[in-house]
Amino acid sequence: MVKEIIFEPGRTFSEFSLMTGYTMKNNIAPIVNLVTDLAGLQLKIPMLSAAMTAVTGYEMALALGKEGGIGILPSRLHIREQVRIIKEIKNYEMSFVEEPLKIRETSTVEHAMNMITRRGHSKVPVVDRNNVFLGMFTQENYWKSKVSYQDKVTEAMIKPEEIACHENQNVSLDEAKQLLEKKKANYLVILDGQKRLVKLAFKKDIEKIKIGAAISTHEGWEERVKSVVEAGADLIVVDTSDAYNEFVVDVLKKYKSMNLGIPICAGNIITEEGALFLMENGADMVKVGMSSGSICTTQREKAVGRAPMSALMAAEKARKKFLSEKGKYVPIIMDGGIASASDMVIALSIADALMMGGYFNRFYESPAEKFNENGKETRDEREMKWVSYWGEGSEKAMNLGRYGHLTRKTFFAEGVEGKVPYMGRLKPTLKKDLMKIKAALSNAGCRNLVEYRENAVLELISPHSSIIISNPHNIKENI
Ligand code: IMP
Repeated sequence: MVKEIIFEPGRTFSEFSLMTGYTMKNNIAPIVNLVTDLAGLQLKIPMLSAAMTAVTGYEMALALGKEGGIGILPSRLHIREQVRIIKEIKNYEMSFVEEPLKIRETSTVEHAMNMITRRGHSKVPVVDRNNVFLGMFTQENYWKSKVSYQDKVTEAMIKPEEIACHENQNVSLDEAKQLLEKKKANYLVILDGQKRLVKLAFKKDIEKIKIGAAISTHEGWEERVKSVVEAGADLIVVDTSDAYNEFVVDVLKKYKSMNLGIPICAGNIITEEGALFLMENGADMVKVGMSSGSICTTQREKAVGRAPMSALMAAEKARKKFLSEKGKYVPIIMDGGIASASDMVIALSIADALMMGGYFNRFYESPAEKFNENGKETRDEREMKWVSYWGEGSEKAMNLGRYGHLTRKTFFAEGVEGKVPYMGRLKPTLKKDLMKIKAALSNAGCRNLVEYRENAVLELISPHSSIIISNPHNIKENI
């Protein structure tokens, strides 16, 4: 006799809509804050790049880390390779933006906004025909002002008196860092003696970039942990496809006794019992998801898994129970199946952060091979059209540890390999998606992710409405 049959169908993100809440003047989209706290590890944006060899290497970890998220280096990498990348990321030094994008004072706000959207920068210096610095146009300031799209950028810019400027084009990096700290500024505008724009320095380029490392539960994990923590890792992720097992408890117990002071994330689980089990065994955060990854064939191969939103709701039940019994809030990371900003919005109504593979794989910074339109591998950015993507459980990766295989003989693939359209550099698309998330939180009347998780109201959409309202209808779209 089967123990239980759940008749409630599994749900995914796109089956839900977010209800609006009362939005006050002080929580318009650009002001919404997406900081998240993962057991003491503060991220400026709630995003982790997946511990997959097709997704996270040095360049992805650097690009995402600079934007305030965190890259998780795959456990399939050799320990030496994980250590090398962590050290490189930790030693990454700020440099000046030597040739900043700028805009003439005669340009319109529309022009500046187009520039911002295209290049993914949030600030553009305004200069006159002699390159004299007149002010800084920022998206945030524009939203706060009452200026219209056709007005001049000068109407919406921040004046030099309100900006940290420094008149010495020979300023050193160390001096710039000190000035940023002294002036408590996010950026410094460096001018010459005639107030002409020379270069910029950003505070976010001084802060140490965060980086995490995945481990398996197989022999050798302790040595890996010691090496990556010593190199400066900020987060350890126990990466298994099914973490509701005895091997994971052993790792968690031993890890805690090592007293390293670095949080540990364990996963993946898809049931309430699984989540509670990890929380009770000391996981600082819990990762959710199985069978929902874009390259995943686990459901097809062995009928195991759960639709991602249902798995997330189950983990949320465990979190509530654990909080009321033990008084401890355990962050939840949703992993797999998040492909768009609208998926992110729904997932963040419960999850503290999101791990994504396919989303990040499409960009220039992923370590995956890039191809031109004839299917030939290319390193020329202008020719890139396709990116290869493969699962950790595919024939290509054969990540035995993640799927609990002891030897290659017992291995069967739980992931596929294929190509996805190339999407350019990470920053512009990421910025746009972050703005969509901020706009949704603003619609819900929330200023940050904590308020959002407490106040979000979702509605299940009927399959019929979903087909109609999730896409434009009664119109032939211009392509
Ligand atoms: P995506 O964001 O939908 O592409 O899903 C990424 C997630 O899929 C990863 O973070 C892993 O949890 C999971 N994953 C990676 N490789 C495989 C695989 O081969 N089979 C099943 N799941 C995988």
